[in-house]
Parts: sequence; C-alpha cells; structure tokens
Amino acid sequence: MIQEQLLSENRGISYPDVIAAMRHVPRDVFVPEIYRAAAFTDRPLPISHGQTISQPFIVAYMTEAINPKSTDRVLEIGTGSGYQTAILAEIVKEVFTIEMVPALAKQASTLLNKLGFTNIHYRQGDGSLGWPEAAPFDAILVTCAPTNIPTPLLEQLDQHGKLVIPTGTDNSQQLKRITHTDDVFHHETLLPVRFVPMKNLRR
Ligand code: SAH
Repeated sequence: MIQEQLLSENRGISYPDVIAAMRHVPRDVFVPEIYRAAAFTDRPLPISHGQTISQPFIVAYMTEAINPKSTDRVLEIGTGSGYQTAILAEIVKEVFTIEMVPALAKQASTLLNKLGFTNIHYRQGDGSLGWPEAAPFDAILVTCAPTNIPTPLLEQLDQHGKLVIPTGTDNSQQLKRITHTDDVFHHETLLPVRFVPMKNLRR
C-alpha cells in the first residue's frame, strides 16, 4: 500500500510523518469484516450507514495538505470509521473530531480508545458548526462535502491555519485548501474528488 499507492512517482506523498503514520495505523481494523481482504487496496470502501472510508492515498494527501506539526490542534469533520482521525492523532498534539451519525461516532471512539489513542476529543453532532469552544485550530480537515464552505469553519481557523475541504455537488467536487493569513483567506483548488455529502441539520 505504502510503496505503490503513496510513494510512486505519480502519487508523490513525501512527508515522513505522514508516511510513518500510514505505516503504523492498521487500516484493516477500521473496515467492516467482509471488506478486510480489500483493506489495503487503492480504493475507498463502504463502512456502515451508507458512508465510506476514503482511499488510502486521499487520506495521506489530505493529511499532507494541512502541513501537520507535532504541536498542532486539528479539527476533523466526519469521523466515520475513525481511520483519518487515527492518522492525524499519530502526528499532531490533539485531534477534535465530529461525527453526525451517533452509531458511527460511538463505534469510532470505542475503536480508537481500544487502540490506545489518548489525544482525541469526540463529539456527535453537526460539524458544519465547527467546535467553537475548542477554537481556534491550526487546521481543519473535512471528509464530507458541503455545497459551500461553512462560515463557522473559516472563523475557527487560527492565523496561518489551513482548512482542507471537498466542496461541490454529488457529481462534481473539488478538494480545496483555504489558508488564513493576516485576515485574508487564500483559496487553492487541489484536485477533483468524490466524498459523501455533508449533512446539514439547519436546512
Ligand atoms: N474520515 C472518514 C470518512 C467518513 S465518510 C474515515 O476515514 O472513515 C464522511 C463522514 O461524514 C460520514 O461518517 C458522515 O456520517 C459524516 N458527516 C456527514 N455530514 C456531517 C456533518 N454535518 N457533521 C459531521 N459529520 C458528518
């Protein structure tokens, strides 16, 4: 998985901390038993409740895109299986993760506790509101796609903070990176992606 899917020339993941985390966290324990044999293949897989665990390359790519440091506090929206949460928690100081579906939130926190992670904070609810009490964050990583970028997420970015988020419709989504510098938000489009839609309680 590491060699072919992350390090090959056309993929080019290069951060040592990201590669080390991807080597260390066992992806198979985050996928349902019937998909275990496919856990290390180059594709997303179904988890429960109609959701998916992202392709390993996308997890590595998004992690690298926030430029993670060991002192960072990071907010993740869309805990899902908890795999991306684990990769972040291996690298940064603290992870705050929000999941809308109660059963997924419970299952992920149980698994991550069992794996021994002690630097993850869990919340069940609507991640489009962010986590104001714990803000500001050095980075926010979103793994479900809203049509438009939720304003609370921009407001909860620290100076020099980065928000990595897929946006668009079911058929056409782009992964974006927004960097907060001196109260200006600098937008970049990174690559075309396909994520499950962000659910929104307020609409
Ligand atoms: N990072 C996950 C990917 C999960 S798929 C992994 O590695 O497995 C995206 C997740 O976002 C789903 O679990 C879905 O329930 C959740 N989600 C969708 N809308 C949400 C919202 N508004 N707030 C929080 N979570 C949301």
